[in-house]
Amino acid sequence: MNGQALVLFSGGQDSATCLAWALQRYAQVETIGFDYGQRHAVELACRQTVLSELRSAFPDWATRLGDDHLLDLRLLGQISDTALTQDKAVELQRDGLPNTFVPGRNLIFLNFAAALAYRRGLQVLVGGMCETDYSGYPDCRDNTLKAMQVALSLGLDAPMVIETPLMWLDKAATWALAETLGGPALLQIVTEHTHTCYLGERGLRHAWGYGCGSCPACALRKTGFERHAAASIRR
Ligand code: ZN
Repeated sequence: MNGQALVLFSGGQDSATCLAWALQRYAQVETIGFDYGQRHAVELACRQTVLSELRSAFPDWATRLGDDHLLDLRLLGQISDTALTQDKAVELQRDGLPNTFVPGRNLIFLNFAAALAYRRGLQVLVGGMCETDYSGYPDCRDNTLKAMQVALSLGLDAPMVIETPLMWLDKAATWALAETLGGPALLQIVTEHTHTCYLGERGLRHAWGYGCGSCPACALRKTGFERHAAASIRR
């Protein structure tokens, strides 16, 4: 096992699964999160819980899990007018994208992550972007991220690989990947402690975790969980 990776870790289901994926592959893993004034700021609190739960449930992973970095990107709130950062309803815009879309958000995140990775001597960025079962965000597409990898590697004059283990997985397969990586213990951590809901709702505990149950993010998480559970029963 070698290599050093920086995982874009939001505290959500996808990035927590990516973090487990990285901890199985790389000798050293650090994490980065972004505070951009998101309405679901509860996600940021979940990050710390997930990190400490992973450390205690997986001693092998704990030896490889290094520093966590939280960057203040609240200026994103100044340049966007979306349901992710402002108190308005989540709905579909005329272009078919949910109004939770902060334009180019992942491109901005990757730039900051790459600068930090370079400074820390980490050569791989790991992100939970996915274009299989997603809300249509163009900055989650595989080609967008491949172009970004080339731009960052050229701009830094150093290799900067972007790994996206969930790119071709649907949400049911993401639940299955967590089970493969860390068995029931990891599934339990993902269900109980990661946060997905756009509205920041953590009052009600469903089989698939906490959330409002009806925003686009909750709907994907819920459907994926139910399909994974149904497939597990058939096995
Ligand atoms: Zn929700």
